[in-house]
Amino acid sequence: MSRPLAGKHAAVTGGGRGLGVAIAAALAARGATVSLLGRTAKTLDAAAQRIASEHGTAVGSAFADIADEKSITDAIAACAAERGPVTVLVNNAGIAVSAPFLKSDARLWREVLDVDLMGAVYATRAALPGMLAAGWGRVVNVASTAGLTGMAYVTAYCAAKHALVGFTRALAMETARKGITVNAICPGYSDTDIVGEALKNIVAKTGMSRDEALANLVAHNPQGRLIAPDEVGEAVAWLCGAGAGSVTGQSIVLAGGELMP
Ligand code: NAP
Repeated sequence: MSRPLAGKHAAVTGGGRGLGVAIAAALAARGATVSLLGRTAKTLDAAAQRIASEHGTAVGSAFADIADEKSITDAIAACAAERGPVTVLVNNAGIAVSAPFLKSDARLWREVLDVDLMGAVYATRAALPGMLAAGWGRVVNVASTAGLTGMAYVTAYCAAKHALVGFTRALAMETARKGITVNAICPGYSDTDIVGEALKNIVAKTGMSRDEALANLVAHNPQGRLIAPDEVGEAVAWLCGAGAGSVTGQSIVLAGGELMP
């Protein structure tokens, strides 16, 4: 594969597992230097070593709780000091807490908004000055189909992801003449731990078998399947390449036709 992102430094939040590790690998495959940010050192280190040995690029990691502005700001500064300014930022880390609205108290709402919305805001505030100085940058926010349509039992998650899409659109306008693009990727149900946990929840609450619960989830997708993490990685990598330079403020749905906004 050619290495169009050689010389770029990409930071991926939640880069140790799930969609984040697939995104990091897709960027490394195109030659980017990559920093994996997250809370679990063991997972991050193992992913960094594997990606570096598979793709022959520099991959490092740093502890960051994205819900804590100082923690993510310090982590991005430490990564920039070690591997150069971050000019590609993938705001991927996220949590999905499900509960009926009347059981979703203020603590639940704050927890979800702090991670799924404010985490992206804090990380972008930390990385954007480096992009402005370089006159080039890519911000990719991993939202969700829940950022574009309503879904029952995840009001806080839906609200946070809708807000993330709004943030994407507004920042795209603000940076349009600065060589920076800002886009969102909106996957449908994907094959990661988040869906694994959702399935356990459905099984516990409804008494369905795991296969029945999975069949219910994939029924949302006209292709009748979960999205593979590598498909998300490829879409993010494309947005970071030169060919996508005119794409900004967009929310790209990866969901087998589930939504046609
Ligand atoms: P996952 O496998 O559960 O991984 C979540 C990642 O986020 C982990 O790396 C986790 O780090 C990190 N994270 C969570 N809270 C954090 C915090 N406070 N600070 C730093 N890192 C934190 O989930 P996933 O499916 O890969 O989801 C990735 C993104 O895709 C999320 O934004 C999610 O909303 C979105 N998404 C997922 C799906 C899906 O069906 N899977 C669909 C649409 C959108 P630790 O390892 O340290 O916990």
